[in-house]
Amino acid sequence: MNRPSLSRRALLTGAAATVIGFNTTTRTWATTGDPTTAGRISPAPALQGTLTTAPATRAAFAQDFGRLTTTTPYAVLNPACAQDIATVITYARRNNLKVAMNGQSGNGGELESHSNYGQAGVQGGIAVNARSLNRIHAITPTNATVDAGVTWAQLTDAALTQGLTPPCLTDYLHLSIGGTISVGGIGSTVHKYGLQADTVEAIEIVTGTGRVLTATPTRNTELFHTALAGAGQVGIITRATVKLVPAPHNARVLTLYYDDLTTYLTDQQTLLNDGRFPSQVGEILIQPAGRPPRYKIEAVAHYNDTTPPPTAPLLAGLTPTTTETTDTTYRDYTYRADAFADTIKNLGYWNAPKPWLSLFLPATQTHTFLTEALPQLTPDDIGQGLLLCYPFHTSKLTHPLAITPDEPTAYLFDLLAFPHPDTDPTPALTRNRHLYDRAVQLGAKRYLVGAIPHMTPTDWQTHYGPHWTTLTTTKNHHDPTHTLTPGQNIFP
Ligand SMILES: Cc1cc2nc3c(=O)[nH]c(=O)nc-3n(C[C@H](O)[C@H](O)[C@H](O)COP(=O)(O)OP(=O)(O)OC[C@H]3O[C@@H](n4cnc5c(N)ncnc54)[C@H](O)[C@@H]3O)c2cc1C
Repeated sequence: MNRPSLSRRALLTGAAATVIGFNTTTRTWATTGDPTTAGRISPAPALQGTLTTAPATRAAFAQDFGRLTTTTPYAVLNPACAQDIATVITYARRNNLKVAMNGQSGNGGELESHSNYGQAGVQGGIAVNARSLNRIHAITPTNATVDAGVTWAQLTDAALTQGLTPPCLTDYLHLSIGGTISVGGIGSTVHKYGLQADTVEAIEIVTGTGRVLTATPTRNTELFHTALAGAGQVGIITRATVKLVPAPHNARVLTLYYDDLTTYLTDQQTLLNDGRFPSQVGEILIQPAGRPPRYKIEAVAHYNDTTPPPTAPLLAGLTPTTTETTDTTYRDYTYRADAFADTIKNLGYWNAPKPWLSLFLPATQTHTFLTEALPQLTPDDIGQGLLLCYPFHTSKLTHPLAITPDEPTAYLFDLLAFPHPDTDPTPALTRNRHLYDRAVQLGAKRYLVGAIPHMTPTDWQTHYGPHWTTLTTTKNHHDPTHTLTPGQNIFP
């Protein structure tokens, strides 16, 4: 047996004993409390942060927001810097372990990965706690440089104190910046700015070979474009410089209701084409049995003084059944999902299984898909959640691995289900797969978030289409041992 002496800086902490290394024979951690274990021990690396094998910590990283999978890591890294992640990746490669960053974001003390189907999971590997990288380094009039574990809420509040805002925000702000730019990050301004990944100007990234690199549109260009919306396949983003723009003070929120799908889609397309609103989303309201769905556009105009813009010109040419108008501050609008999340938590739905489905539908097939899909959905399927549906220009998405339908306009179809906590999620997962298959037949693509079971290598190749080569080439270059982010299940 080869037993190393414990380095003072090898900060591996377990529940009862200190971990001294990984036993590559038994594939378990060797601890000071277990001196009799036979086998070859790979000494724990020296770190500035900590690596823990405490069962409670590992259990906390075994689940994600979706509550549909369990993937328990062997250890959790709390990195103090990018070099810690590089060190652990090198160690993991040597010992045939996997590594994945875990967003660990949320409101208040409730931190978790907001993935839905184990995308940040790393069964028997090392989970990296993004929350340990949590500093806003700089804010300038045009951008901010932040650690990957900073949430959009933290950045928004810091930017607002200087009259600035990220141009593209997710509906729920308590998500890690590194996590959303790794999957894309879609929000109500996608029609203007693209995804959050499209607002990134530079990243610091640790590749799957353990190199710490800076990537920008002109430096390590290929790495830049495949890390953003790249599902964590080529590296772990540790820092990002993201665009900021002047923040408006107030928001006039116009809610337009429709009883007819064709009119709804026509008005969505009209608004998209003329771009009259800085913020434009939509929702489908599934009704009880026998009643057709209703449709909703939420369009937001900004203003800075006390007088909101008149509503009538904003609605010119649109034909909703009814309209509601409310005025609020810009900050309150950006934080609008907090009250929703609080309600869901109070009702006990947050910690239950949530089989979400996120698709990008080609605009020419959206009516067909919705006509087929909506009758399959009941109010119980949606539960306390919602079904978002709104269009964007696919040309606004600039990174090759942010895959969209091959049409100028696509619709987000985002089934954010919060079913009753007692509901067995199995039928909903089957439904998701069924809807996905039908959508793909119509030329749709999935968004990387959500729960679609049984994704095969062929499904992924179909998904990426001509960009499959881009992904595999860069993966093999920057992560040749396929150490990173197995939970996306793209490279099983
Ligand atoms: C209530 C709620 C609201 C949401 N609203 C929106 C929305 O409006 N728009 C939208 O686009 N999405 C939305 N999402 C989905 C969200 O984008 C995903 O959950 C996404 O995964 C980000 O979550 P996270 O920060 O917890 O990262 P995780 O889910 O933990 O990570 C996502 C994936 O990226 C990898 N990863 C994480 N960080 C890094 C990094 N720094 N470098 C490389 N890889 C990394 C992980 O290993 C994993 O594979 C919402 C989710 C919830 C629960």
